Amino acid sequence: MSSYPGWIIDTVASSQMTNNPDLLMNFETVKGTVWLGDDSVIETCGRGTVVILTKTSIGHVSSVYLKRVLWVPGLGSCSWLAWRAIVSLGKGFSLASSGKDMYIFRENQPEVIWGKLDRQDYVVQEEKEPAKKITYQQWHEALGHPSPDYLKCNNYSDATNLPKVPKDRQCKTCLTSKSTKRKPTSITDICSDTPFKLIHSNLGRKFSKTSFAKSNYYVTFIDDCM
Ligand SMILES: [Zn+2]
Repeated sequence: MSSYPGWIIDTVASSQMTNNPDLLMNFETVKGTVWLGDDSVIETCGRGTVVILTKTSIGHVSSVYLKRVLWVPGLGSCSWLAWRAIVSLGKGFSLASSGKDMYIFRENQPEVIWGKLDRQDYVVQEEKEPAKKITYQQWHEALGHPSPDYLKCNNYSDATNLPKVPKDRQCKTCLTSKSTKRKPTSITDICSDTPFKLIHSNLGRKFSKTSFAKSNYYVTFIDDCM
């Protein structure tokens, strides 16, 4: 596992970036490059979603989802929370600083992210025992969408605090990707070999509104020859 010293609030970077692929959920391999402040260019190897359990200055813990976080192996031992990427969401976030603390607010709510000055960087304050606070669905996504039969503590040597399976749980990704419906037969198997030899036609039902040309119905003609 790569080193993970935490997230640093960066007011210059335009994308969220991490050197730690273990943090990324729903990972996609996407090759690209990013420019750094010193005009150097480094390679990006993928992107995904990161969940940070942030701790506010009054002790509240909440899950902050960062989408499209770039995996940048050459970034060094840090992850960058890009303020510009947050503000570009247009969701009313604002940034304030008071000496050794930096806060990210959403509209008039208490802060959602608290950064504390550590040497020259404002480091995002995170919940120290995140394993206990992560939801069942977050574990399910992080471990590659296993079924509840396999997502059990005794199947993972280091997972003693897995949450219980919620009632009526549904995962949209699993419902889509694990569907057992059979693929329909390809229409290429039954194509006619000559244009206009076989035409499929269908009459649509009456429109609720008359068209510009004062028509109330439409009819399709599709040549079976492809
Ligand atoms: Zn799933």
